[in-house]
Amino acid sequence: MLQFISGRRVAVATEQASEFQRRGLLIILSSPSGVGKTTLARKLVEWDSAIKTSISSTTRKPRDGERDGREYYFTSTEEFAADIKAGRFLEHAKVFGHYYGTPHSFVETWFSRRHDVLFDIDWQGGSQLRNSKYGEYTVSIFVLPPSIPELARRLRARGRDSERMLKERMELCRDEIGHWTEYDFVLVNKNLDVVLNQIKTIVTSERLKRKHQTGLGSFVDSLYGQLEAG
Ligand code: 5GP
Repeated sequence: MLQFISGRRVAVATEQASEFQRRGLLIILSSPSGVGKTTLARKLVEWDSAIKTSISSTTRKPRDGERDGREYYFTSTEEFAADIKAGRFLEHAKVFGHYYGTPHSFVETWFSRRHDVLFDIDWQGGSQLRNSKYGEYTVSIFVLPPSIPELARRLRARGRDSERMLKERMELCRDEIGHWTEYDFVLVNKNLDVVLNQIKTIVTSERLKRKHQTGLGSFVDSLYGQLEAG
């Protein structure tokens, strides 16, 4: 806000330093499947409604309980190819034999409203996002399993995959884990609540980075204004 102080027009602080306007973050969450990424993503959104989960398009079939437009936009391979051609994806990749892609539109809408967008995507998508026009706004988090036997146990307990599929997931886990060094933060999910708190800490401190706090410049100007006004 601008006010006259001692005959000079200066910006006056109207907000506490911790409440400045800020840019949104693009939070990339990756892990091998079975590590708890989907639960973590859900709990993170419950924690703070400023975080919106990006809804991807996929060519895989819906699982029981999944709804079109909620977990994913379920689409055909032809439609997916047409969307790629039309440049509708910010990133896309083939995972477990199916195509997955992040539509531009969702990110543009929420990011322009200064919301954070959370991406539950694989390492290929993470890498494409980091190299996109949003690169400087990304923070990437990779979650590792506490051990391979524990990961296998968790995958079996889900009861979603055949033995062949489980074997395939474990093979892909090797590929996925190989990309851990590309991420800003690497966490080990021994305990879901601990990891969730670690992610909250990461998001909170990332938001406070100078480059994300767009209101800081005018606040500092207002401090100068107040100094000059005595
Ligand atoms: P699921 O089919 O089990 O929901 O997801 C399989 C894998 O695809 C997960 O590792 C998930 O993070 C990843 N995935 C989901 N959506 C996207 C997306 O839009 N882009 C990319 N690159 N990966 C995705």
